[in-house]
Amino acid sequence: MKKLFKYTSLSIGAILLLLVVLIGGFTLYVKLAPPIDLKSYAQYWPADLSFQPADSIAVELVSQMSIDEKLAQMTGDVTPLEGAKLLVSFFVFKKIPIVYSGRNDRLHIPPFAFSDGPRGVVVAEATAFPVAIARAASWDRNLERRVGDAIGREVRAAGADYFGGVCINLLRHPAWGRAQESYGEDPWLQGEMAVALIDGVQKNNVMACAKHFALNSIENSRFKVDVQVDERTLREVYLPHFKKAVDAGVASVMSAYNKVRGEYCGHNKYLLTDILRNDWGFQGFVSSDWMMGLRDGVKGVNAGMDVEMPLQKFYSDSLKPFIESGDAPISKIDEMVRRIVRTKLIFTTRTDTQDYPKSLLTSPEHQRLALEAAEKSMVLLKNENDALPLRMDDLGTIAVIGALADKDDTGDRGSSGTHPPHVVTPLAGIRAYVNGAAKIVYDDGANVTAAQKTASDADAVIYVVGYRTNDEGEYIPNQKEKPDSSGWGMSGDRASLSLRPDDIKLLTTLLPANPNSVVVLIGGSAIMMQEWKTLTPAILMAWYPGMEGGDALARILFGEVNPCGKLPFSIPASAADFPFFQADIDSITYGYYHGYTLLDKNNVRAAFPFGFGLSYTTFDYARLRLEKSRIGVSDTLSVAVDVTNSGDMAGEEIVQLYIGFENSRVLRPKKLLRGFEKINIEPGETKTATLKVAARDLAWYNPDAGEWQIEKMKYSVLVGRSSRERDLFGKTFLIY
Ligand code: BGC
Repeated sequence: MKKLFKYTSLSIGAILLLLVVLIGGFTLYVKLAPPIDLKSYAQYWPADLSFQPADSIAVELVSQMSIDEKLAQMTGDVTPLEGAKLLVSFFVFKKIPIVYSGRNDRLHIPPFAFSDGPRGVVVAEATAFPVAIARAASWDRNLERRVGDAIGREVRAAGADYFGGVCINLLRHPAWGRAQESYGEDPWLQGEMAVALIDGVQKNNVMACAKHFALNSIENSRFKVDVQVDERTLREVYLPHFKKAVDAGVASVMSAYNKVRGEYCGHNKYLLTDILRNDWGFQGFVSSDWMMGLRDGVKGVNAGMDVEMPLQKFYSDSLKPFIESGDAPISKIDEMVRRIVRTKLIFTTRTDTQDYPKSLLTSPEHQRLALEAAEKSMVLLKNENDALPLRMDDLGTIAVIGALADKDDTGDRGSSGTHPPHVVTPLAGIRAYVNGAAKIVYDDGANVTAAQKTASDADAVIYVVGYRTNDEGEYIPNQKEKPDSSGWGMSGDRASLSLRPDDIKLLTTLLPANPNSVVVLIGGSAIMMQEWKTLTPAILMAWYPGMEGGDALARILFGEVNPCGKLPFSIPASAADFPFFQADIDSITYGYYHGYTLLDKNNVRAAFPFGFGLSYTTFDYARLRLEKSRIGVSDTLSVAVDVTNSGDMAGEEIVQLYIGFENSRVLRPKKLLRGFEKINIEPGETKTATLKVAARDLAWYNPDAGEWQIEKMKYSVLVGRSSRERDLFGKTFLIY
């Protein structure tokens, strides 16, 4: 008996040891396994295949493929082994690994290798840039192109070549949990920034993917909500930025989870084939959003959904009978595979203009760019009596108050979650900048009475308040998070549009204790401020400012950098002025108006208008002039305005151009953004901003005729510093 026990415990011990070795070995393998060498496939093909030759090769390859090989092109390669790698990578290393699709060594077809996301590469320890909505606030195409270039380089350095970070769903309502991943409420700004990001990324032979097509602007209901939308709203409001991405040559589009007009987007032929391919001429491939982006293989094939991600579920053996019966026609499947293979060949055979060593990941150059992006994103919303910048000489003690000051918060931890090696928190940035020249006292604000004393004892108080990682973001059902007593902290759509109740209490109690204060807001969308706005002279929207955000913040607070960001959305005085929103909902109608177009329509003044942001200097506008007073329907109008820096600090101004449609015979918004330029002006200097407006960009979509039409009428050009009426200077011109 004793012997038996001895042997049993010995063998249990041996089994346990073996398990530990196996699991440990596998974990090590997951950590160390090199990515697939994508470029090695290029040797089998001529270099720099352009569309036509790549297309011919793709047709030939399709003709040589078995059904299984075709299906393999149409799905992610998440085999059981890859699945195990994915789980270990996610749960042990907290990172989504590269997901491959369509590797075919027999025919030398490269897989594509997927990485998210909107604020930087997620599959490696990479640079965390400020979130996309922050970068939208920079209104800086050139900066966004450079960010895209850096992200593209890091995608390649990480071993991937398919980038899912071009998130261009419209911010219809600020409660949308994933607002931070996108570029705000306006289709024009959204499209311009997307094109810049795509250009930058694709320069590195990385396939960019614009997502989520389409109307995916509610998070918690994303798997079920059916969005109703009329044709004009669809074409004029929710799709123009996707069209711009297609015109810019985006390699891929990801369909959305939600339904549009009763049909899931992954099965939606109207969106994926009729509009995307037939109307717009998109030549790349469509991939599904993950998990539940495709629910029926036959419907997917007939709609034009090319790749099921991340694993083979419906585009699998189960599809074969339907291929045989013709319900999922083989001709359609061949077309799908042709599109996928063609796109991969074009991108893999393109000659690289540089190498992509691992050292590019968070390289000093990219960190500097993250800093610059954070500096150019922050929006100064209020600055009474020049409360900012803080003048260090006058300050013996500076109190920094709020838990978020000491948090490395770069944003949501869903699919866009990044893993930078360090994050400069607001507190660390302030401490480093002040560098002993004043005393910094930190208080997390948990004990309001103690914090009140900290605030009144200080010469100046910097509050850092706002949203924590779990207060908004991607909604992953069944996650372990629990809401706190006020219903906050579950990711997904926001529980409220205001600050957290504890932050509000902190501000309303403490702000009166010391008037020398600034409130720094962390968050990914509009925050209502009525409870405390009048109690502080200065408010700065810092967003989720990325890995160098704390340094950027300090440089702005102390006047080393002049803030220049402007809001990419409107903040009305009352939440009642937003369109209807409900996080848990089965069906909703997206109307023609939201954001500033809705405020304009209802004649409501915004608390902080779209395009609004202050500077430490002042800019005066003069001499608005139009090159012509009449243009034809295929012409472009050139508009110029002089801007003088009348303050005493160099600064960047974002000059905005809106078009007014007051003479239209159809219902149109009062005005629409149709141009912007950012100019850097020295004190006392005057610069001319020149903006161009193409008549075709003023067209409306006539649903009866099924086409875009340009009205021949008088339009107004409105140019100025924000969308607010009193900030705009107008002239009129005619389209004949
Ligand atoms: C998200 C996508 C993302 C994908 C892969 C999905 O759940 O909705 O935006 O690209 O996961 O990370």
